[in-house]
Amino acid sequence: MTSPKARRPIVAANWKMNTGPDDGARLARAVAAEDLPLAQVEVVLCPPATGLTSVAEAVADSPIAVGAQHVYWESSGAFTGEISVPMLTGLAAYAITGHSERRQLFGETDLDVQRKTLAILAGGLTPIVAVGESLDQRDAGETLAVLRTQITAVLEALSPEQTAASVIAYEPVWAIGTGRNASPEQAQEAIGWIRDTVSAAHGCPAAGRVRIQYGGSVSPDNCDELLSRDGIDGALVGGASLDAAQFAAIVRAAAP
Ligand code: PEP
Repeated sequence: MTSPKARRPIVAANWKMNTGPDDGARLARAVAAEDLPLAQVEVVLCPPATGLTSVAEAVADSPIAVGAQHVYWESSGAFTGEISVPMLTGLAAYAITGHSERRQLFGETDLDVQRKTLAILAGGLTPIVAVGESLDQRDAGETLAVLRTQITAVLEALSPEQTAASVIAYEPVWAIGTGRNASPEQAQEAIGWIRDTVSAAHGCPAAGRVRIQYGGSVSPDNCDELLSRDGIDGALVGGASLDAAQFAAIVRAAAP
């Protein structure tokens, strides 16, 4: 299997339902003005849909990429409120699917995540597929089974090449927005299980290439110990990504 160093770490900012077009652009410019190791770490900013245009303009001269937080799998039509992958052309290179807030609050199912992931790949964008267990599931010893189910639902529709080109975010639900991050050992173990699942489905080369981030209360205080671990290929960052200096500290910690 490819060595962990062969994968370029990726740190993505999930601004969730925060920032409008102007303050989003300001935040993007503040991130771009930080001293970031952009040759070593891929950085993605995911503003709400209304900020995609202004944020894309704000980082147009930088290697910083833009991602959507949410897409629908159909290309166009009578789907009020939804945004399709073709509508992101020129605005975003990434799109998140399967975030636990969408699963829990908006009823997104494993099959929805599969369809969205396929649509994102078909449109030439990179999916960031989020998976993770709840606290009850962890306490019941079901973490591995939950991760396997969520990951397999997506992988069974993907080719090995599509899998290798995707990004997976391991985000334990109990760590998202709670200030309680997974320990480096817990994150490394779960990410190892996810990589094993990828390997079983699509073989070692795909498992060695797919990047798997950790997400859940990543902050400047815990990023060094999390992101220095082998196999953890960067972070998906919520709260701390709304502060340019804090987000920059996390990006720096992801540099090999
Ligand atoms: C997230 O929303 O993906 C996330 C990880 O949030 P936070 O960093 O705030 O826990």
